Amino acid sequence: MTTYPHLLEPLDLGFTTLKNRVLMGSMHTGLEETGDWGRVAEFYGARARGGVALMVTGGIGPNLEGSVLPGAAMMTSDAEAANHRVVTERVHGEGGRIAMQILHAGRYAYGPGCVAPSPVKSPISPSVPKELDEAGIEQQISDIVRAARLAQDAGYDGVEIMGSEGYFLNQFIVTHTNKRTDRWGGSYENRIRLPIEVVQRVRDAVGEAFIIIYRLSMIDLVPNGSTHDEVVHLAREIEKAGATIINTGIGWHEARIPTIATSVPRRAFAWVTKKLMGKVGIPIITSNRINTPEVAEAVLAEGCADMVSMARPMLADADFVMKAGAGRADRIAPCIACNQACLDHTFGGKLTTCLVNPRACHETELVIDKAEVKKSIAVIGAGPAGLAAAMTAAERGHRVTLFERLDEIGGQLNMAKEIPGKEEFFGLVDWYRTMLDAYGVTLRLGIEARSDDLADYDEVIVATGVNPRDPAIPGQDGANVASYIDILRGRVTAGERVAIIGAGGIGFDVAEYLVGDPHGLAENIPLWMKEWGVADPEAHRAGLAPEGPQPAAPARKITLLQRKSQALGKTLGKTTGWIHRASLRMKDVNFVGGVNYERIDAGGLHVSFGESRDKPTLIEADTIVLCAGQVQNRSLADDLIARGVTPHVIGGADVAAELDAKRAIDQGTRLAAEI
Ligand code: NAP
Ligand code: SF4
Repeated sequence: MTTYPHLLEPLDLGFTTLKNRVLMGSMHTGLEETGDWGRVAEFYGARARGGVALMVTGGIGPNLEGSVLPGAAMMTSDAEAANHRVVTERVHGEGGRIAMQILHAGRYAYGPGCVAPSPVKSPISPSVPKELDEAGIEQQISDIVRAARLAQDAGYDGVEIMGSEGYFLNQFIVTHTNKRTDRWGGSYENRIRLPIEVVQRVRDAVGEAFIIIYRLSMIDLVPNGSTHDEVVHLAREIEKAGATIINTGIGWHEARIPTIATSVPRRAFAWVTKKLMGKVGIPIITSNRINTPEVAEAVLAEGCADMVSMARPMLADADFVMKAGAGRADRIAPCIACNQACLDHTFGGKLTTCLVNPRACHETELVIDKAEVKKSIAVIGAGPAGLAAAMTAAERGHRVTLFERLDEIGGQLNMAKEIPGKEEFFGLVDWYRTMLDAYGVTLRLGIEARSDDLADYDEVIVATGVNPRDPAIPGQDGANVASYIDILRGRVTAGERVAIIGAGGIGFDVAEYLVGDPHGLAENIPLWMKEWGVADPEAHRAGLAPEGPQPAAPARKITLLQRKSQALGKTLGKTTGWIHRASLRMKDVNFVGGVNYERIDAGGLHVSFGESRDKPTLIEADTIVLCAGQVQNRSLADDLIARGVTPHVIGGADVAAELDAKRAIDQGTRLAAEI
């Protein structure tokens, strides 16, 4: 008897059966755009081998105007279909199934030729879209149908028609973006004509034995979005039109409510999908912030959906389903929903990978194979860089000893996990502990390794991390001053009024920590919804609470400062920075840039502005927290070098500037893959 009976139960679609209830949701990885189809095949092949029942590719454009940006992958010709054949054959060879997502971006397209129901510019893309006429709409439909037919020729098991997240079809459905008065606009029946027509005509073109998933926006989270009754109506029409499965879309990309970031509680939107259960006859998939087999199983067992979609968790661990089935869920590398190496890369024009799994999308280039010569390796420092290096080296068969000065592994991850909304870091540290044990790493906690202790090892890897930068502000040795480490490790309790010096990732994190109830929202979905203004779409159109966000009162009065005059938070993640800024603004945090730090005294922090530095003003504060960045901790490395040993130096000990766990883990893994 498996622990996950619902998750691992097959799903009969009539003409075919899926082997379990896990869909790998669509992700724009950038792999298809490399043109290296062998690499694309290995990415999907690895996930098929890992046991996922059905995968959906990244969004593929049906034509130039509908592609997300110029140069994005399209499916418009036999030659393009031929490229995909290597992918579908590999997936089938591994026992998996794969559907191609047809993504028409409409007004979200970055190209100047973008088209939409009405010329309403989106706040997140540069051009005003061209309003389509009747012939233009017909052209878009036939291009989508052509893409589906070509996908079938390329060997795909189906297509997913993207009708949510505010893309083209979604833009027709709601009056927010559809201002038309012809048969494609006005009444709800007219506005849903396009998605229905698309599904019908795709079904006519591909025949019965081909999966059509329709991704339906079940809670738009933008003004004038759909009501629940409209969602049900559309779902029934989509079923009649010939869809095999309905997948859940949550929120438009322009919505100012987080939907997948780490601060969103796990399974925060499964209740939305559940509202549709029993109202259509075809299977329904739920999605968003489902990242463990336990959560997925619970969602299915509670009847929220027939299948679960997990996208980023499949980047973090290609073997997710296989490990769950083998009773080794504790070995699944957890997706911490940080977006740092996936969505942030996509939006930064870089190839996707994963913070916890640098092999994601790099399967053909970063290979972890057995070492030919087994070495004894010492790793010093059990932060992210040291953990990744020790684990990977041991996986390759080396004898690894990991030294850590403190009595716990994790390094800075242990501070991250204390931040409300970053509780996923607990799972990451637990996973490293499990994997060190699984690969037989000798762990020596509470030991500050010295160069004398390291003489007998074949290789020494120094991952001693960073020390806080000293901002040298007069008065900083006062009793009212603390470092971020004091605060996050609970050594100092901050007073009512706090000034935070430094507004990088850690300054923002400390503000989040001090402003609210630690971990209050992580598991409390109703409270989180209230905080962000999310309502039941049955009661309020689009799921927007009429009263807007209702954040709990801030626990402290906080001022967050930096010397640069630019807006605060510029260095935060591309896709998550706005959430941190919005969340602190909701708590009345005062953002102050362009300051000079003059001095600290019992009254608080004295700052001035501009070059003249005259007329300093006092920011009254009971506690001043130093978050002024970090410098390398290289003392062990330098000592080893002085004794003639050449260590490998990684993570913050190597380069402290712009250090994050992504770079540390990537560097540790790559070093250990070659050592
Ligand atoms: P950081 O991002 O480099 O920020 C350092 C802050 O200190 C800046 O605001 C900087 O602003 C200020 N500063 C620098 N030198 C100073 C000085 N001499 N005196 C006073 N202020 C000074 O470093 P961090 O906040 O320590 O974060 C470390 C790394 O962890 C970051 O690179 C980040 O990627 C990662 N991290 C990310 C997140 C996240 O994305 N949410 C969260 C935590 C950590 P001014 O120079 O303008 O004053
Ligand atoms: Fe998940 Fe972060 Fe990896 Fe993206 S980078 S898949 S969010 S752990």
